[in-house]
Amino acid sequence: MNVAFLGLGAIGAPMAGHLAAPPFALTVWNRTRERALRFVETHRGARVADTAAEAVRGAEFVITCVPSSREVEALVDGELLDAIPAGALFIDCTSGDPATSRHLAERLAERGIGFVDAPVSGGVIGAEKGTLTVMVGGDAALLDRARPVLAAFGEKIVHCGAIGAGDALKAVNNALLAVHLWSTAEGLAVLERAGVRADIALDVINTSSGRSNASMNLFPERVLTRAFPRTFRLALLDKDVGIGADLARQQKVPAPILQLTAELFRMAHATLGEEADHVEAARIVEQWAAVTIG
Ligand code: NDP
Repeated sequence: MNVAFLGLGAIGAPMAGHLAAPPFALTVWNRTRERALRFVETHRGARVADTAAEAVRGAEFVITCVPSSREVEALVDGELLDAIPAGALFIDCTSGDPATSRHLAERLAERGIGFVDAPVSGGVIGAEKGTLTVMVGGDAALLDRARPVLAAFGEKIVHCGAIGAGDALKAVNNALLAVHLWSTAEGLAVLERAGVRADIALDVINTSSGRSNASMNLFPERVLTRAFPRTFRLALLDKDVGIGADLARQQKVPAPILQLTAELFRMAHATLGEEADHVEAARIVEQWAAVTIG
């Protein structure tokens, strides 16, 4: 199976790593070439292409994993539309936005190229272990074709609905992550000010009804330790919550918590910059409360 993988970022690289051996014949491309060269040093089975167009020539499957649908669209418009063979399947693993995915699918269909949106969850560790959840939007028959490729890095592969359904579900999932992250930071900051240590608070919350992935994993491992490892950029979570909030407006669903959370993460992103990790949003709450959590 000839696979082209475009975008070897924090999550793209470990995903592509599972495709670098038979039955797959993998060609990789990354905007910053050094990253692709580093990838093939550890994955000898893969080939580096000089351009995105070169990567996709002869591909049966084209996978993209770039920051947003905007970069996917720019690649398609710029180089890919004329280079992808008719009959190929385009699998977009970017956490994208549903409207752009539908538009891309139409344009690719005119060239006889199939499209599914297939964003992932499970983080960098899930990508390394090959245990990601993949949420797929698009034709069920196309998902059947994509399944062997997706199963290389995905443990749970779910058909969510028509094109854009995977993107929509991913955006709402990440909006919930953002809500939990921010509200847990507020709760712990209040408790610190009230004289309750964050480790004691989490010990109780994590066997009680206020617990979440943020309280069970992110705060103990990343905030209390002050480690704040860079695994998922705050800029990307800001984008995801924004997609979720936009979707609510488009669907005319009153969603004040989602809208407020989108504003909070836009502000956190503007304050902390492009390279900050998503968990660092807690630093803003700490500043406001004039406390350190932990
Ligand atoms: P990174 O920021 O680590 O990497 C982004 C990748 O996109 C890099 O390969 C980068 O190339 C490439 N890129 C950026 N801009 C362009 C462009 N204009 N044209 C072509 N390529 C470009 O992001 P992640 O790997 O973390 O995320 C990728 C996608 O996966 C995002 O949609 C994200 O929301 C999603 N995701 C990420 C998770 C995570 O834990 N990290 C978890 C689940 C989903 P270059 O090397 O040149 O910068």
